[in-house]
Amino acid sequence: MNVCAPKRLPLLLALVLPLLLAYCATTPYTGRSQFMMVSQAEEMQLGLKAAQQVLKQEKVSKDPEINAQVRRIGERIAAVSVRPDFKWEFHVIDKDVANAFCLPGGKVFVYTGILKYAKDDAQLATVMGHEVAHALLRHGAERMSTAMALQGVGAAGVIALGGSGTAGGQVFAQSYGLAADVGVLRPFSRDQEREADQVGLRLMAEAGYEPAKALEFWQNMAKDEDKSKKPPVFLSTHPPTEERIANLRDLVPWASGFYKPHG
Ligand SMILES: [Zn+2]
Repeated sequence: MNVCAPKRLPLLLALVLPLLLAYCATTPYTGRSQFMMVSQAEEMQLGLKAAQQVLKQEKVSKDPEINAQVRRIGERIAAVSVRPDFKWEFHVIDKDVANAFCLPGGKVFVYTGILKYAKDDAQLATVMGHEVAHALLRHGAERMSTAMALQGVGAAGVIALGGSGTAGGQVFAQSYGLAADVGVLRPFSRDQEREADQVGLRLMAEAGYEPAKALEFWQNMAKDEDKSKKPPVFLSTHPPTEERIANLRDLVPWASGFYKPHG
């Protein structure tokens, strides 16, 4: 038998290894290997569908000032990102919920409720940089791949299965947390959060916002955490704020190396 593997390698491993390698991707910026059963094209198509769903179900803000602010910051972050193929869009949802997210393909949504905490451009760039980082690092697709493997959904025809009510559609909805409450993301893992914090800090620095400003935003969130029994949505999907602030404080000197004043 002519098997392209060392003789002593068990046959099962020889069969499984190429499969595992085929489902392996590497994150930009951090160079981490990730299990990935979703292609970038599939992921972007699913992101587009989800964005249309969000726009259909939520009230889009018509406030020209807030829209201009979100677009201004978003375009600066998009310009320094590693995905020129993304079709970037920046939407403001008129809802008093402290939330924001970026769908695959670069569809960014900011809820007006987050502006209570993000009090200037640099603070809002903290939020948007973090959310864009999740998308660039393909965290949703990574989570979706794990769910697919666990639930035995094949990689072939993810798009074909992408309609709601089908197995693939359900995995997608669960992975992006779109099932019950549009726009409210299910928690990413703690490691993914740390990675998005790190890359988000770098993105904001490259886009011309001082990375130390990230601490101000998170301190605003932490103040609210003390007072309120019910944390804001954005906060409740993330690890303890004090721990995050400590981690970010350690990263600020590193991120400052990427800082380029805008203009
Ligand atoms: Zn996050």
